[in-house]
Amino acid sequence: MLGAMQDWELRVSLLIDHAAREHGSREIVTSWADGSETRTDWSGIRRDALKMVQALQRLGIGKGDRVATLAMNHSRHLVTWYGATGAGGVLHTINPRLFDDQLDYIANHAEDRILIYDAAFQPIVDRMRDRWTTIEHYVCFDAADHAPAFEDWIGAEDGDADWVQGSERDPCMLCYTSGTTGHPKGVLFEHRSNMLHTYAALMPQCLDLDARASVLPVVPMFHANNWGFPWAAAAVGAKLVYCSSNAAETLCRLIRQEDVNYVAGVPTVWLSLLQHVDATGQEMPPITKALTGGSAMPRAIIERLMASGIRIAHAWGMTETSPIATIAFEPANFDSLSFDEQVTIKARQGTALFGVELRTVDLDDPAKVLPRDGKSAGALQVRGPWVIKRYFKADKDATDAEQWFDTGDVALLHPDGTLQLTDRTKDVIKSGGEWISSVELENAAVAHPAVAEAAAIGVYHPKWDERPILVVVRKPGMAVTGEELLGLLAQKVAKWWLPDAVEFVDEIPHTGTGKISKKDLRDQFRTYRLAE
Ligand code: ADP
Repeated sequence: MLGAMQDWELRVSLLIDHAAREHGSREIVTSWADGSETRTDWSGIRRDALKMVQALQRLGIGKGDRVATLAMNHSRHLVTWYGATGAGGVLHTINPRLFDDQLDYIANHAEDRILIYDAAFQPIVDRMRDRWTTIEHYVCFDAADHAPAFEDWIGAEDGDADWVQGSERDPCMLCYTSGTTGHPKGVLFEHRSNMLHTYAALMPQCLDLDARASVLPVVPMFHANNWGFPWAAAAVGAKLVYCSSNAAETLCRLIRQEDVNYVAGVPTVWLSLLQHVDATGQEMPPITKALTGGSAMPRAIIERLMASGIRIAHAWGMTETSPIATIAFEPANFDSLSFDEQVTIKARQGTALFGVELRTVDLDDPAKVLPRDGKSAGALQVRGPWVIKRYFKADKDATDAEQWFDTGDVALLHPDGTLQLTDRTKDVIKSGGEWISSVELENAAVAHPAVAEAAAIGVYHPKWDERPILVVVRKPGMAVTGEELLGLLAQKVAKWWLPDAVEFVDEIPHTGTGKISKKDLRDQFRTYRLAE
């Protein structure tokens, strides 16, 4: 027997219909790379997305076809999220910061049929065009010499169309993980997984979005489902403010100008915002809510933001988890805790969002599930309806028989369920057979006021196999010595964890999504030799 409720497939087009109907005049603002600004609203996004459906159909692109974008954050990119998925297609957001070989691999692997790109990425298109064998059509988001301009392309249509219908289990988006080893892997989101993720993310203890929110998602739209903002903001009619640049000066100006009260960005974005505020002597922009994730958020930044009255949500997740899986929000006793204790809660990765289950297993014996004792670090596994089952075109599942997906992260779970990440499996430093947490060393180092960024990596050691070294970028015009930093770390970590050396550099390499690239850093220090 089936239940007796209505037949509605949970498809993302429902979100844009709702946004246009109930919050049609809520604005979507874009600040473009050339400094100009444009404004549209949720009904404008819907109208243009329907035109895009017609334009795609005119090219014979429809159900299941991959529609790729190579673009920064802007309203036209948002139109493609709803246009490609509304045409029954699969939106493939390509990360323009990938290397040529990765760009070659993923566009061909995805079998993209059309690419819509920012004029700023014309050099990439020119370089890759011959290597991308499946792309039949090119459209440029800006006015361009080399391809039809997006506005003209959809402008030729009248928008009198319907969304393509189908199953909620149909795919709607494809995002490749940056692939620190081997080829990038495609995560194929479906309408239903995105819808369920949206419902969960909207909870007050998660994104806490409502119609009063004016959101600046600094996280790129090509990264990890854009943390779900294009979907969640539509569900509640939040205003979206897009900026093609990540320059702190531009972000601060936009925040004030557009009454932005909600900013979402990786820790490096927060770091540069705070540095800009300090360097220019201005007050903290009037943000009330902040979402961060993607890599560990240094405690010092959390303290700064909380002291400025900002309610900070620290999430953990990955492309494979759509991406939000856990979130650090306020537990029942939060108000009775000291400021320091409150910061500790926000500095951890939070607890499982309803819909996601977590466990840790022994690193050497995955059959052994570890206790939630706040001590036993192990391999973090997750499962739930918006967690990956199988990578795109893979011939076997990425999960075990009980659907547990191994995240590649090393973590411990506290008795209250709080997740604390200690490393990535690949980044763990193993000295004399014992694990050292690079995250703890880095957190201790960035607490020093003169440290802009710090990364701990393992380097070869003849006796211990590997020993940690700390690579540090100083803040401009500020001084700190290696001895001072080691003195600070000695107060926080076990003696045998202390790095054998501190190296100061001008810059630490970052991945396409702004995270420290441990792999590149390890490559840079491959020939580094420690004294015995
Ligand atoms: P990649 O970085 O491989 O491109 P993702 O963007 O999906 O892929 O990143 C997921 C990874 O980022 C997680 O597995 C974890 O290592 C790291 N990460 C995400 N959120 C946090 C967080 N709040 N704290 C620490 N690390 C995080």
